[in-house]
Amino acid sequence: MRILILGGSSEASALCRALATAVPKLDVTYSLAGVTKSPLLPEGIKTRIGGFGGIAGLVAWLKNHDIDYVIDATHPFAIQMTHHAWEACLRLSLPYMRISRPAWQPTQIDQWRHVSSIEQAACLLGQQQVGAGHILLTIGRKELAFFKEHAPQHNYVVRLVDRPEPSFLPPKAIVLTARGPFSLEEERAMFKKYQITHLVTKNSGGNDTYAKLISARENLCPVIIIDRPAQSPDLDAFTVESWKDALALICNPLHS
Ligand code: NAP
Repeated sequence: MRILILGGSSEASALCRALATAVPKLDVTYSLAGVTKSPLLPEGIKTRIGGFGGIAGLVAWLKNHDIDYVIDATHPFAIQMTHHAWEACLRLSLPYMRISRPAWQPTQIDQWRHVSSIEQAACLLGQQQVGAGHILLTIGRKELAFFKEHAPQHNYVVRLVDRPEPSFLPPKAIVLTARGPFSLEEERAMFKKYQITHLVTKNSGGNDTYAKLISARENLCPVIIIDRPAQSPDLDAFTVESWKDALALICNPLHS
């Protein structure tokens, strides 16, 4: 069986590693968009990097590589790739599975303000007095310019995997390049060092980057949380919550 795993999340690389050990006879290709400069690639798995060229390009690629099964383990905010993968599988009548970890939920003491886009988060901050200290942005680099445009007056700590284009940054920004997972001790130390007063994050879900929300709770920091973009409800029946669920579904038919 030839499987294409669409990556971009920790679930994707964990599934690749598990498949390489548990079912070495599978022919797995791991695909990345090529957004991160030095991605961590799972050993022993074929990798391809770069877009396919829309739905038509993906359909052609799947046909050319005789793929039998597509596993979409992209990040919960990568809705275009998910849409393309779903449509391509429909056109070719290929089995499709999506891994989407559950969204984070606030506790009773969390002060979450929900927004539906990064631009909305920036506009909200632009209208607020936030005082001294820093706002922590963990939103990736693509849409940083909204904070420069709508809320340039604040101090920021911008944490991301790769250094952003300087012209996208708000004027008072400290950049921290780091790759998760982040422990609670690390997050507590960072909140203390930079006197974090607010957190802006996407609702990515998962454990690897959850500690910042605990730290925000402990410091009574308001959180602006970017809610997940809506997906077609048709996908729900083909969605599992973790790489372990995906592994079980892939392995069981083969072992029965
Ligand atoms: P997107 O808007 O859904 O996809 C944009 C385009 O990037 C797709 O149309 C596709 O190009 C290409 N692409 C995306 N994932 C790909 C993959 N795994 N393999 C090959 N091509 C891929 O995605 P995005 O939000 O820009 O994110 C890009 C990548 O970063 C995704 O793989 C995602 O999992 C990862 N990521 C995203 C976020 C986030 O917050 N959005 C966070 C962490 C990681 P073509 O149309 O040319 O095929």
